Amino acid sequence: MEQTKDIEEQWNSTAYFFSRMSYTGVQFVHAPYTLVEGLSVQGRNREEYIVAQWFKESDEFKCEFPSNHQPSPPNNTSEVTPYVHSKVYNPFKAESSLFSIIKMNPLDIDETIAFYNEYGPLNQTSSRYDVSSFAGNLLMDGIMESRKFFIKSVVEIQTVVKGFYNLEDVREGKTFTDKEQLEFLEHYDPGYWKPRWEHVDIPFEDLLQAMLFKIINVNLKPISPYAEVFEDGNFYPGYSTENLLGAIWFILYNILTKMPGRQVFKKCLYCYDQFLATSANQKFCPDYSAVRADHSPCENSHNQMVFQARKWFRNGEKSIQEIADHYRRAIDEVEGWMTKKRKITARKTEP
Ligand SMILES: [Zn+2]
Repeated sequence: MEQTKDIEEQWNSTAYFFSRMSYTGVQFVHAPYTLVEGLSVQGRNREEYIVAQWFKESDEFKCEFPSNHQPSPPNNTSEVTPYVHSKVYNPFKAESSLFSIIKMNPLDIDETIAFYNEYGPLNQTSSRYDVSSFAGNLLMDGIMESRKFFIKSVVEIQTVVKGFYNLEDVREGKTFTDKEQLEFLEHYDPGYWKPRWEHVDIPFEDLLQAMLFKIINVNLKPISPYAEVFEDGNFYPGYSTENLLGAIWFILYNILTKMPGRQVFKKCLYCYDQFLATSANQKFCPDYSAVRADHSPCENSHNQMVFQARKWFRNGEKSIQEIADHYRRAIDEVEGWMTKKRKITARKTEP
């Protein structure tokens, strides 16, 4: 009896301990953002930047980048109040930022601006150092960022996720020819793989695995352990991040390390796309929109399809074969809908 009580107490205090885990970070969003071409920052080559609209129109900007700005129309007095950001949030709490990145085309400028307006720059502190006269000013965090940096960062996250899918395929017995391996590896920084691939005969699976872990760990650098004191006077553990990019890699790291490999990557029952599962029960692509509904779009579509199919079948309007043709699904799958009653449809998508 005593022992049970001890364990219970211990468990409760452990649960309490983890419920107090803190995730600290501050992300500024200076929406709306706009694209500025040919900006030379601190003497570097001209490139494209995503810049907060108010900052682009401010006298500070004209002063800092005299050769970049177009002369303002005569009656356009710049009365923009500097240091106004439209939103401040904790980047650890925005799991949808990772999903947005996985799904986006980083070369599409509209999608990029939409990302900035929603989540802000990936490395918000960079602007402070890029705009030299504001170097010490924390309020300048998140006002501008190199588009090249954004594209590179998004591509790196997407290729790591793709790499995990490939690793799954290899583990399930799929083989890649030398040419296919090379085509795949070329998406990654050659420093990660080239010497080993060219000079040491390492199995593709091992190379892929070593490379993915290296990339993840390098990108976790903006994250650090963080101690916080709560009102009970005790110290509690946590993490802090310097920027949104670190938080995104941390969310990915959590998804990849939380469960043993196989459960993490799943094929959606509706669209057959692979997705990153955040719970063992998840059967459909998650809802990538900021405001999530109870059911993801794929789950809704799947439910409607199965409902319609059952109705046709029950009323004798269509045969299994006809339904399979209509929806372009396998016969086995359609048969499954008719026998497995509500197993799939009754279950909610886990958040
Ligand atoms: Zn789907």
